[in-house]
Amino acid sequence: MLVDVASIITTIANQNCSFAIKSQGHAPAAGFANIDKGITIDLTGLNAVTTSEDASIAHVGTGASWLDVYAHLDSLNKTVAGGRNGGVGVGGLTLGGGISYFSPQVGFTCDSATNFEIVLANGELVETNASSQSDLFRALKGGLNNFGVVTRIDFHTLPMDGILGGRVVNDISHRSEVFNAFRNIADAHPYDVHASITTSAIFNAVTKAWTLLSAPIYTKPQTNPKVYAELFAIPSISNTVKVTQLHTLANESAIAQTNQLFSTGTYGVSTQLLDRIFGICNDTLHNFNVAGSLQWIATFEPLPMVFVSPGVHDNVLGTSPENGNAMILLFSASWSDHDASSSVHAKLEEVLRKINTAAREMGQLREFVYANYAGTKQKPISSYGAQNDAFLRHVAKKYDPHGIFQSQVPGGFKLFD
Ligand SMILES: Cc1cc2nc3c(=O)[nH]c(=O)nc-3n(C[C@H](O)[C@H](O)[C@H](O)COP(=O)(O)OP(=O)(O)OC[C@H]3O[C@@H](n4cnc5c(N)ncnc54)[C@H](O)[C@@H]3O)c2cc1C
Repeated sequence: MLVDVASIITTIANQNCSFAIKSQGHAPAAGFANIDKGITIDLTGLNAVTTSEDASIAHVGTGASWLDVYAHLDSLNKTVAGGRNGGVGVGGLTLGGGISYFSPQVGFTCDSATNFEIVLANGELVETNASSQSDLFRALKGGLNNFGVVTRIDFHTLPMDGILGGRVVNDISHRSEVFNAFRNIADAHPYDVHASITTSAIFNAVTKAWTLLSAPIYTKPQTNPKVYAELFAIPSISNTVKVTQLHTLANESAIAQTNQLFSTGTYGVSTQLLDRIFGICNDTLHNFNVAGSLQWIATFEPLPMVFVSPGVHDNVLGTSPENGNAMILLFSASWSDHDASSSVHAKLEEVLRKINTAAREMGQLREFVYANYAGTKQKPISSYGAQNDAFLRHVAKKYDPHGIFQSQVPGGFKLFD
């Protein structure tokens, strides 16, 4: 299979043929992991998960899903700081950074990588790590599909003996209390590194109803950790939080096959801003309708200082603890009628523009645009800062002098856009 990837690259690079690279295909943007009039290299056959003898390192094929990884490692009482939804692919998530339940402990998923096996533009298969082609090793920690086809990633493992997790649903009338609880978790000093939470405001455009859904996680098998006391005290419609195994928690139901779009922003942690974002979404989306179903989700997740510290010089994401605790917004739409796509796109961009304007006015807009959540018109790579941007271009020219992964792989965020 590895030989296949190398010979495919050699053949198609020489034919000037366009191609796409796909792991588990969870990037929602059209054309990021597939292609019209070209070849898609589907890596899902490269899904082996093995460990070193002492299980301190996991060797993972990039076509594996995170569920494959957790199912293997749970039985060894180990884990990797990987994706939260088990269906997401190892390749795409790690090359874009990767936010994990364990990120407050060990940083982005890419920060746990010790080695990348990659097929370069000339068809050569190389191992890249801190002592071999270390510039390429660093570039792959956030540099997306711009350098080659990554076929295996080795990760540091972490001990794992159970995890607390589940979902809490609150009526929208409890919005202020839920946003306050989120703020107090995300902006705690010190931040509890075992805490990982997403809080989503979900709008059903057909019923015009809002719901609040939080996924509070504690990376230890501990019931009722103090960090969630405030959230759990708010009257809820349902609360499924319990101690479980990571592969059970990650085994979420399959996502419905609808059109989907992501966009994102990073902001200072503030209840006023959370309220303002909710107000913008409600005002802008309430009377907007398309045929069929349409759902909007504004998901907030903490980006605490402890989270960005581990990889601060080792990855290219440009996040810094000096910027203080922050929160990431993933603003997404899913809808059934393909013909409605352009109006949904335009509405999503309008909402994000309004949110960023409000955040800027409040002094809460941060530079970082998280690539794995970014909309197609956003510029995550330039948000990494000029130095990282220049570094990535330099490394791309060194390892791919003819720009194969820039010109023949059109999908994804490119370095020379
Ligand atoms: C339901 C859902 C849950 C999510 N949960 C999380 C989460 O917990 N944390 C988080 O950080 N993100 C999360 N994301 C976002 C996710 O990280 C991105 O969508 C990511 O790109 C998906 O990776 P993939 O391998 O499945 O995607 P793909 O669509 O297969 O690939 C995404 C991009 O990466 C490139 N790529 C993939 N594999 C390789 C490779 N081996 N070599 C070179 N390039 C490659 C592709 O060309 C493409 O441009 C989630 C997304 C969804 C839809």
